[in-house]
Amino acid sequence: MKRLETDILVIGGGATGTGIAWDAALRGFRVVLVEKRDLTHGTTGRYHGLLHSGGRYVVKDPQSAVECIQENRTLRKTHAHCIEDTSGFFVVTPADEGEYPDKFVAACQQTGVPCEEISVDAARKREPLMNPRASRVFQVPDGSADSFQATHSTAQAAQQAGARILTYHEVLQLLVETNRVVGARVRDVMHDEDVEIRAAMTLNASGAWAGLIAQTAGLRVDVIPGKGVMLAMNHRLINTVLNRCKMPDDGDIIVPIHTVAVIGTTDERVPHPENLSIEPWEVELLLNEGDKLIPGISRARVVRAWAGVRPLYQEHFTGASRDATRGLTLLDHQARDGMSGLLTIIGGKWTTFRLMAEITLNKVCEQLGTRKPCITATTPVPGAEHGHYWLGHRLAEVEENHLQSELVCECELVTRAMLENAARNNPTFTLDDLRRDLRLGMGPCQGGFCTYRAAGIVHELTVNSQQLTVNSEQANVWNVANLQSPSRNQSPNSNLQPPTSNPNLLLRDFLQERWKGLTPILWGRQLKQERLDELIYLALMNADHLPDENLSSPMSDFYTQTGAAEVKHD
Ligand SMILES: Cc1cc2nc3c(=O)[nH]c(=O)nc-3n(C[C@H](O)[C@H](O)[C@H](O)COP(=O)(O)OP(=O)(O)OC[C@H]3O[C@@H](n4cnc5c(N)ncnc54)[C@H](O)[C@@H]3O)c2cc1C
Repeated sequence: MKRLETDILVIGGGATGTGIAWDAALRGFRVVLVEKRDLTHGTTGRYHGLLHSGGRYVVKDPQSAVECIQENRTLRKTHAHCIEDTSGFFVVTPADEGEYPDKFVAACQQTGVPCEEISVDAARKREPLMNPRASRVFQVPDGSADSFQATHSTAQAAQQAGARILTYHEVLQLLVETNRVVGARVRDVMHDEDVEIRAAMTLNASGAWAGLIAQTAGLRVDVIPGKGVMLAMNHRLINTVLNRCKMPDDGDIIVPIHTVAVIGTTDERVPHPENLSIEPWEVELLLNEGDKLIPGISRARVVRAWAGVRPLYQEHFTGASRDATRGLTLLDHQARDGMSGLLTIIGGKWTTFRLMAEITLNKVCEQLGTRKPCITATTPVPGAEHGHYWLGHRLAEVEENHLQSELVCECELVTRAMLENAARNNPTFTLDDLRRDLRLGMGPCQGGFCTYRAAGIVHELTVNSQQLTVNSEQANVWNVANLQSPSRNQSPNSNLQPPTSNPNLLLRDFLQERWKGLTPILWGRQLKQERLDELIYLALMNADHLPDENLSSPMSDFYTQTGAAEVKHD
């Protein structure tokens, strides 16, 4: 068995885990991070996309609101290129009148969340589709954030500071020796090999899976997995985040994200963080609630539904997940359970991931008896120098540089060079990995057109280099600062490794995964779009009969599990 030794082992490649790896490496620790699939595969890649101002929590969860506004200001500097500065409105619709708006204003003042009341006319000038019957509008510094880009940038910053990031490495078992966790046994999923990683401290940042990890050391951590469903609409119907001005509830925010607008979200306590189904009532509820902010949105085309699961934690909590705190919790297993060498960090928000890492590393230093200050709040990650992104930056770059003929994905303006560089630079085992890197297949056709081109390019890369496998460690000379920019990706870096896997398998798995998010929303014009995609898939490409029946990857099981229920809609 392969063996590694390190100061700190981080479990989980979401926002929190990569934030911890970054902080730990900057403090001078030797760090290894393991993630069972790709970075952001968990909740971080399935969230709503809001850089919270804290406005949503000022009344219900003021501590969370304070953490959010503090981190909102910090991330705008350290992760500027991962944020769009949309700002946000809290809108009093006819359904929201009552005492809440005044309470909201007072709570914003108490928690330090900047809030300014603007006239409904001024708000409607910026957002013409907003409900004309709104009576009051408050403006707050909400933003829209790209968690794929942010997590990759954080991981790259961690690597530059010396951390090792091992994707597709799954923790099977924490290693315990006389009441101390001394590391973990990990499976290298792609190479079917076990690795023993020994560490002075093991940090459990596995989000909604944290209870399952703790269990392998005989510890009980009762995570409250709260499933939330979101719907992406065909167009970016708004440019400002729209929130209902009321106690947080289902379907009360619409966030503009790149080319689409996303309605969210629901909150249902679920028994397990995997295999989340999307129920018909959830889709209907989101559309009905969305109508209150943007009348008529329920008749617009929905291009995708997906679900994520909140890693909520509140000791001895038995209520509904909607009522559990959004605050962060650090579990010191030494003090709590008499088990040293292990900390679990849980709860919080994407917006507060850096703070969660700072708190965790402060405790690590205390337990290891060392003093190393945190510098992440003042250290920009690679790419932050480009400033905030804006809708249209890709289009402007494609037009200025005449890259139209290079386009692989027209919806999201992904060029061939972007795809080749991403495939070679990052550990790439599936087309879904490239989707997260580049937004490939995330637009209105949901991969109906670009997937075949992408699979062809990956095939070329593989054949030309005669290289069929890539080690996630070798490929991790990542360069993500420019990953999403057409003009900064004009010459593929041919010295790096190509992606792995059989292209037919990549194609099948990717379309299977896209299909999961389409089944809950098949009606009206989306059904027509899907029929077109199906004809291309079955009749034109004959992709159902590719010579891949005997092929499978460690990902195939995951992709073929049904992730969504059928939904009927009039
Ligand atoms: C529906 C919804 C909407 C949300 N909207 C927002 C929002 O708009 N703004 C905001 O700030 N926050 C939002 N959040 C909260 C935010 O998404 C989460 O708090 C945050 O992403 C959690 O990050 P994490 O790194 O802790 O967990 P995750 O991103 O889930 O990372 C944990 C990782 O651990 C990995 N893992 C699990 N088991 C193992 C194992 N055995 N071995 C190795 N790796 C393992 C998983 O694959 C996963 O990648 C939302 C959450 C949900 C569910």
